[in-house]
Amino acid sequence: MKLRSRFTVLFAVMAAAAVLVLILVSDATVGRAVEDRVAERFRRELEHLANDLGSGAVPEAARDTFLRNAAQQLQIRITQIAGDGKVLSDTDLLPQDVPSMENHANRPEVRQALATGTGESRRTSPTEGRPMLYGARRLADGTILRLAVSQAHLREIEQRYLWTMRVAIFAACLLLFLIGSAASSRFSRPIAELTRGASAIAAGDFARDLPQAGGEEVQLLGGAVQRMKDSLKKALERAEGERRLAAMVFETLPDGLVVVDSKLRVLECNDRFAAMTGIAAPAGRGVYEVLREKVLYDCFEATVQTGETKERTVRLPDERIWQIAVAPLPGGHRASAVGVLRDVTRLERTESMRRTFVGDVSHELRTPIASIAAAAETLAEGNPDRAETAELTGLIRRQADRMRELIDDLMDLAQIESGAVPLVREEIPLQELLSEVAEDLGSAARDRRVEVRVIGDAGVTAFGDRRRIGQLARNLIDNAIKFSPEGAPVIVRVWRQGGKPGFSVEDLGPGIPKAERDKIFQRFYQVDRSRSKVRPGSGLGLAIVKHIAQLHSASVDVEGEVGQGSTFLVRFPAAPLEVPVKADVKTA
Ligand code: ADP
Repeated sequence: MKLRSRFTVLFAVMAAAAVLVLILVSDATVGRAVEDRVAERFRRELEHLANDLGSGAVPEAARDTFLRNAAQQLQIRITQIAGDGKVLSDTDLLPQDVPSMENHANRPEVRQALATGTGESRRTSPTEGRPMLYGARRLADGTILRLAVSQAHLREIEQRYLWTMRVAIFAACLLLFLIGSAASSRFSRPIAELTRGASAIAAGDFARDLPQAGGEEVQLLGGAVQRMKDSLKKALERAEGERRLAAMVFETLPDGLVVVDSKLRVLECNDRFAAMTGIAAPAGRGVYEVLREKVLYDCFEATVQTGETKERTVRLPDERIWQIAVAPLPGGHRASAVGVLRDVTRLERTESMRRTFVGDVSHELRTPIASIAAAAETLAEGNPDRAETAELTGLIRRQADRMRELIDDLMDLAQIESGAVPLVREEIPLQELLSEVAEDLGSAARDRRVEVRVIGDAGVTAFGDRRRIGQLARNLIDNAIKFSPEGAPVIVRVWRQGGKPGFSVEDLGPGIPKAERDKIFQRFYQVDRSRSKVRPGSGLGLAIVKHIAQLHSASVDVEGEVGQGSTFLVRFPAAPLEVPVKADVKTA
């Protein structure tokens, strides 16, 4: 119940109680007072009448009429009684009925008046049969003047007074009640407003300021609630900021994050987790249903059961590799464990490539080192003649050169692959550059009696780094010379197609099977290992070609049939118009 209503009820009850008590008290006291007053008046009237009669002002003949008028006026009964008790007149009876009246000498008030001059009694009238108040007085002539009034009449008068009194009491209490409830409403209004303000705060509405009205205590209370609201608002803002930060971290993590309850149901997860599992809304589902992988599920189950952190790396049926770490969460919350899911497929592949690479490099280095070691041993231990010494030192030099080439290519490739190669881009006349490369490789070509012919449009230019494109062409022409049958030509053709420059290197060697054409660009990949014994190489040449082409947004393709030769085609993009010719543009 509202405070105001309570006050109203309280005032109403108090007013009703006051009305009741006052009426009871007034009934008791006023009734008696009224009775006394009426009796007093009765006595005074008796005295006046006695005086009027005793003074002789009323003639004997008019006495009866006088008394009857007085009785009517005063609404009383007046009886005149002789000294012996005989009734002389009575205003309630007709004169002819008076002689038949009983002797009144024994009436207490009459007896008293005869004895002392005045008498009074309250009793039931034998004549009228109802309770009466009697007053008697002895007159100078010895007769008794008696007045009688019915007690019912007295009570009637008394009731009139009492009703006036009751109405006055009721009106006073009603007035009091109205004043009280108006005052209570004035007192309770600020409290009600304060209550509304506090309720708004409880409902999360911090915009409204609390009213500062009412009495001093209410104002103090309002101030305290206002301060409480301000600090609550600040605390909530802080908590909201922290929550937002946590949510942001949760969502921007590159790993999948999932929180599960004790029944291994997903309570919360980030978008990355949903993306990794391929389930749009994992919340509410079982972990097994979401991850569909027993090993992952076992990690969650073991963590929830043992309270220990579990970590595993899992290869999924679709070849993806996931690392999972599940940690228990402290009790007191329905979240039991948190799992972090990381896709390490690329990392694992890189690691496996690194292992293969190290293996391949070691393998490539082992052969020349073994040859050098064996030759050096023979030189040291044996007693070789001049020809043998020359042969062995020649072998050592060749193997050492091969190792240097391998190391140079490795370092080159590492640099190109890392992207940290400064490119000096310029307009390059392709035929001129390719002719220079062919000339550089002249001795190798001559060794194999291979003629390298550079043909095509001399005006074709490509935009790029001269040194790197020269390196790319050198690797291709070198391979073509290596794999060409002795005496067969190698054709280097320069062209422009659809505004795009390009060149091809064509030989009549063994060709490359279709299935191998992508693989030959991988490091150390060789179509037929036995070929490399005849034509040794680092196995890195085409990997370098591919990366240099990529740096120039160029493409490299292989064509030709097995047994009929190979054609390597390099296609450059059209020269960018916005880049000025001969300008040095460095890319990292
Ligand atoms: P290598 O140093 O072994 O030549 P490359 O990366 O240059 O290494 O070449 C990779 C492999 O591609 C070679 O071992 C060879 O099997 C094949 N290959 C490259 N060029 C030719 C070609 N012109 N004709 C036939 N096979 C070739």
